[in-house]
Amino acid sequence: MECTVDTFALARSGRQLHGEQAIVGMERLASLLADERGSIGWRLHGWEVARPEGGADAFMALALTGTLQVPCVRCTGPVALPLSVEREYRLVATEAEAERLDLEDTRYDVLAGNRHFDLAGLIEDEAILALPITPRHEHCEMPATARTASDGQPGRRQASPFASLKRFRNGAQDTDIIED
Ligand SMILES: [Zn+2]
Repeated sequence: MECTVDTFALARSGRQLHGEQAIVGMERLASLLADERGSIGWRLHGWEVARPEGGADAFMALALTGTLQVPCVRCTGPVALPLSVEREYRLVATEAEAERLDLEDTRYDVLAGNRHFDLAGLIEDEAILALPITPRHEHCEMPATARTASDGQPGRRQASPFASLKRFRNGAQDTDIIED
């Protein structure tokens, strides 16, 4: 979903923008979730800080709110993750400058500003960074059919079909032995 902003105009004006971004339009994020319904609420505001030598540095802050449904690593069912992200960025003129200054700046992430800055992409990136590595239910109720040795292992989604395939193979082998 396209959503761009003129970051330098935003910083100059000191304005605040806000909106909702549908999760279904954010394919990279949606692919990591158990449910792609819903949206992320965002607020963006910009400001400038005058330099002693003249001119000004541009900044913006992004806040995200919402609830994401992430897949539990044990049962793959949805775990509700309250999203609460607040980030501040320093805006510079070029990507090269941003890369160089980002290493030095401990307080702000440094981004290359743009008249058509990809805000939707930034919202998606920050939401992905906020996802837990191994989300799980606090009290996980495993499906009855899955209470096996694979308990607690990631990738359990594939375990059941594999287990039944193995049983089938064993069964076929047993039959062969009997026929011999
Ligand atoms: Zn679970």
